[in-house]
Amino acid sequence: MQKAIQLAGRKRYKNKPKPLAGAVLVKGDQIIAQGYQKTNAEPHAVSQVLYNLAPEQESTIYTNIEPCFSPEDNFSCAKILVQKGIKRCVIGTLNPAPEINGKGVAYLRAQGMEVTFGVLEEKCRQLNVFYFKYIQTGLPFVTVKYAQSLDGRLATATGQSQWISSGSSLRLAHQLRSIHDGILIGIGTLLKDNPRLTVRLVKGTSPLRIIVDTGLKIPLTANVLNDEHIKKTIIVTTKAAEEKKMAAIEKRGAKILKVNQDPQGQVDLREAFFRLGKIGVHSVMVEG
Ligand SMILES: [Zn+2]
Repeated sequence: MQKAIQLAGRKRYKNKPKPLAGAVLVKGDQIIAQGYQKTNAEPHAVSQVLYNLAPEQESTIYTNIEPCFSPEDNFSCAKILVQKGIKRCVIGTLNPAPEINGKGVAYLRAQGMEVTFGVLEEKCRQLNVFYFKYIQTGLPFVTVKYAQSLDGRLATATGQSQWISSGSSLRLAHQLRSIHDGILIGIGTLLKDNPRLTVRLVKGTSPLRIIVDTGLKIPLTANVLNDEHIKKTIIVTTKAAEEKKMAAIEKRGAKILKVNQDPQGQVDLREAFFRLGKIGVHSVMVEG
């Protein structure tokens, strides 16, 4: 299971809501195949491991998350496991997605396979902490960038604990940016620092830049409205915003997300996060 977790963690946390998954096929005390899903376009980890394999009578597959199952889909991982005659399946966590949750396990057992789940469960759940959060709540997983938020959970989730303990804080900030779908700041920080909010110090893609700006005070000269990543800028505002300015910002290619005001007259953050989740932002790093 440790090996399956390690394989799964090689993929970056991008383009959810799919879980990170790794699988290891063992016969006797030998690993005979292993795999993980590198991109969403690839087959799932379990399918990858089994696809080109001759049927295996006495082998055990270890996977960090419940294999997918759909009654109609003969290529769902659970069906492939059965087709290949795998004897035993050891699973870290059940898949929280309602269409799979427990159904994969039930199917495998109904087909006579020996199934164990809950092995290194907490570790497997933490590995997919963004996925679980989004699937279970419809809200993105939020990381707040303070030293005290860098606890073991985050380190485990990214599989980068070694790096986190030894990296400089600026590199770390960029590393964290690169694993989230979005970075969020308030208009106060933007007016003070005019940040670019891109990933520069480490390899990785730049996330969406989300500015919470109740009254649309952002100057049209702001870096996030003038660089080559403008399409990755989202301004979350309210009806307090001036229509003409909204139109001007959208014309440049940035996105405006208009949400309700909370009782204090500010952007309703819960609605904002919910709407962000809907447009594919499943993890957000709050930078101030
Ligand atoms: Zn699958």
